[in-house]
Amino acid sequence: MRPEDFDVPRPPTPTPGCPTCRALADRRETARLRRDGSAETDANVLLRRHQRSAHGNREQRQAR
Ligand SMILES: [Zn+2]
Repeated sequence: MRPEDFDVPRPPTPTPGCPTCRALADRRETARLRRDGSAETDANVLLRRHQRSAHGNREQRQAR
């Protein structure tokens, strides 16, 4: 796993109409409501990884 998967400055946005994105975003939201930071990060990692493979990496890495 790459370091940027753990450093999440900007959470990935779920793609409209994708059930997997919605499920992961829902999971992230639930974790946030429970103040479960590690579960929230975990959901972000899964969502980002899913988007990278399923949606062709729409989220380009931002130049800082
Ligand atoms: Zn998706």
